[in-house]
Amino acid sequence: MESGFLPKSIDPERAADQGLEFAGALDPAPLARLREVAADDAATISGRFAFHRDEEGRAVMEGSAEASLPLICQRCADLFLFEARAVWRRVFALSEADERGLAEKGLDVCYHNGPLDVAELVEEELILALPMAPRHPEGCEPIQRPAAGAHPFAGLAELLKR
Ligand SMILES: [Zn+2]
Repeated sequence: MESGFLPKSIDPERAADQGLEFAGALDPAPLARLREVAADDAATISGRFAFHRDEEGRAVMEGSAEASLPLICQRCADLFLFEARAVWRRVFALSEADERGLAEKGLDVCYHNGPLDVAELVEEELILALPMAPRHPEGCEPIQRPAAGAHPFAGLAELLKR
């Protein structure tokens, strides 16, 4: 088990051959897409990867990532730290036909050669794990009126969401 920071890239075929595991932190600064959906930079991001081969000889990646992300609560419009957690299992197909067959079974599959960009992968999985309408986990007071300078219909849009 390697720790510290996650590697920048991982070759899934080589990692599967060696049964490698990686765990560590990821620098949130270069993750521009995540910053667009979050209200600010993520406080912390950590990830874990484990590789093996299935009975058919395909490389399999099991991964998870956790991040504390500042989001705007859709109920009270305050900032709060959302504890995002993403878990995934991806199979690397042996051919395009193999990829189609596995996709039909509903598996997360890709037919891919070459190294994986770790930051890009973790960013994508975390974005998928975010709620459509983030809210404080415990009760908070709903906003009664739009803040000064807000679009006049912003409050109406909030009402329609409920
Ligand atoms: Zn709230």
